[in-house]
Amino acid sequence: MSVLIKGGRVVTAVDDTVADVFVDGERISLIGESLDVAADRVVDASGKLVLPGAIDPHTHLDMPFGGTTTIDDFTSGHAAAARGGTTTHVDFCIQQPGTSFGDSLAMWHAKREGKALIDNGFHIAVTDLKEGGTLEELATLPDRGITSYKLFMAYKGALMVDDETLFRTMEVAAETGALVMVHAENGDAIDVLVKKALAAGNTDPVWHARTRPPETEGEATNRAIQLARVAGCPLYVVHVSCKESVDPIMRARELGWDVWGETCTQYFLVDESFLERPDFEGAKFVYTPPPRAKPNQDVLWNAVRTDVLSAISTDHCAFLWDGQKTIGRDDFSKIPNGGPGIEDRLRLIHHFGVSDGRITLNRMVELLATNPAKLFGLYPRKGTIAVGADADLVIFDPEKPYTITAAAQQSRTDYNLYEGTEVVGDVETVLLRGNVIVDGGEVVAEPGSGQFVKRARFGEQLRANVSAG
Ligand SMILES: [Zn+2]
Repeated sequence: MSVLIKGGRVVTAVDDTVADVFVDGERISLIGESLDVAADRVVDASGKLVLPGAIDPHTHLDMPFGGTTTIDDFTSGHAAAARGGTTTHVDFCIQQPGTSFGDSLAMWHAKREGKALIDNGFHIAVTDLKEGGTLEELATLPDRGITSYKLFMAYKGALMVDDETLFRTMEVAAETGALVMVHAENGDAIDVLVKKALAAGNTDPVWHARTRPPETEGEATNRAIQLARVAGCPLYVVHVSCKESVDPIMRARELGWDVWGETCTQYFLVDESFLERPDFEGAKFVYTPPPRAKPNQDVLWNAVRTDVLSAISTDHCAFLWDGQKTIGRDDFSKIPNGGPGIEDRLRLIHHFGVSDGRITLNRMVELLATNPAKLFGLYPRKGTIAVGADADLVIFDPEKPYTITAAAQQSRTDYNLYEGTEVVGDVETVLLRGNVIVDGGEVVAEPGSGQFVKRARFGEQLRANVSAG
C-alpha cells in the first residue's frame, strides 16, 4: 500500500513547508515539491496541516484503581486517541502487589493483545521492592524495551512508595540508562489532611483540592529533583500543575540538571472552581494533582513556551461519572481519581495554544510529538516527519469548527471535561505506519493493528529501526 499526501503544509518541530509526502509501506519514502509518483491512494491536503502523529506519554487504559477499573480499554482508548490525532502512547504497567515486574508486564501485554488500534509502549510503575519485584529484575527491563521507571510519591496505602524505594530505583536507573518518572505529591501530609477533613464532616468533591495544596506538589517535586541529583539519574516529573512545582524544575534546568517536566491539557483549561459544581458534578474533575487556582494556567503556558516544561500529555484515566465517580458521593476520598482527555489534546492545544498566540505551531508539534518521542526513546522512528520514519501522520484541518461533547466522543466514559467547548481545527485523516486509521473523521482501524514498541534507552535513538530511506 502506498499513499501520496499532496500539497499540505508539512509542520515538524523545526520545519514548516508546503510539500508532498509519499508513503511506501509503513515508512515515509519521499518528501518534496510536486512529487511525480504513482500511489494506491492520493490524499489532497491543500489548505491542511500535515503533522507527525501525536504521542501521549501518560495514559492509564484498562487499569485497576481505587476499587474499580478505568473504563477505556486498548480498543476504546485507542479509538479516542486516533480520532484526536494520537498514533502512539506510553501506558503505565502497574507492578501488582507481591508480583514480579515480568508477571505484571505479562498482564499488561495481555490487555492490549488483539485489541490495540495504535502503537504503544509501557512504563513500569514500581510499587514494591520488598515482595515480588527486585532491583535485579528492574535492571533487566530496559533490554525488553521498558526504559522508564515510574514512582508514585502519593496515594498512601496504595501506590505510594517510600523514599528508600524511590532512591534505590533511581540508583538502578543511573546504571541502566532508564528515565525515572515521578508523581510528585507529599502523600503522607495529604493523608493527614484528608483524614482531618473527613473527621470534620467535609465530604464534597472540592475537598479533593483543599486536601492537596500546591505546596505538597512543590515539596515532592523538589525532593525528587534533589534525590535524582544524588543518584545521578535523569528525572521526568509528570503532570506538573502549579507554580510551586514549576519553580524547582526551572531552577534545576537553569543549572543544567537532567530534569524534565510535563503538564496535561486539563491544567490549562480547568481550574479549582469546577470542583464546586453542584449535584456531585464536581466529581468529574477529581483527578490528581487537582485542578488549581486559575493564575497557574498562565504559569503553565509560560512554562511550555519557554521549555521549562517539555511535553503535554493527557493523563487519560477515564471513569464513568454515573457508577464509578459516584462511589465517592458521600466521601470525596473514595472518588476514583482520573479524567478523560486522550481524544481532545491536539484540537485543544491547537486552538488555545497556537490560535490564541501562546505557542507556535512548531512548538505545539514539539510538545505533543517530538519531545515525547525523544524523551521516551521513540525518536526518530516516531515524533517527526522524515524520510525513513514511521508513516504516522495527521492531516489536520485548521479551519474546521468542532464542538467537544461526550455524545460525539470515542471514549466509553459518560462525560467530557471540556463539554460544549467550541474550537476551530480538527483531525481529518490519520495514518499509522502507512495505514489509514482515521478517514474523514471516522475511525476505521482494525483491533489488533497496533503494535507494541520497544523503546530505546534515555538519550539513545531508535536508529536501528530507521532504514536509510
Ligand atoms: Zn497518571
